[in-house]
Amino acid sequence: MKASCQCGQLSAEVPGPTAAVVACHCRACQKRSGSPFGAAAYYPHDQVTLTGEAKRFTRPTDLGGTFDHLFCPDCGTTVTMRGTKNPDVTGIPLGLFEDVAAMRPLRSVWEERRHDWVDIPTAVQRFSRGRP
Ligand SMILES: [Zn+2]
Ligand SMILES: [Zn+2]
Repeated sequence: MKASCQCGQLSAEVPGPTAAVVACHCRACQKRSGSPFGAAAYYPHDQVTLTGEAKRFTRPTDLGGTFDHLFCPDCGTTVTMRGTKNPDVTGIPLGLFEDVAAMRPLRSVWEERRHDWVDIPTAVQRFSRGRP
């Protein structure tokens, strides 16, 4: 399955759908996506193949770690994300996939920041912050 940026220069390829899909309502995901929440599919890092030129943006996290974004220098779309909290997995924003298959968020995190008109009906786990 392929996920690509707006202009198509940068893409990520993964073996198939995953159940590890998270909707996050934190301020950083809101800012990154420009949307009320971010949704991403998470894969073991070695299952993600990146093609194209990427630039890196790193931000500190509230847990004292860092969160890395690889984005397309031409169109600015973030294609992969990786944090020091879970260094073995790479997140890919859900909206970048050509075929979303059966991927839908099973977890909704940072619910206290959720815009009141947003509901994630597929979420079976809801957390007020990034962890239970
Ligand atoms: Zn691009
Ligand atoms: Zn977030």
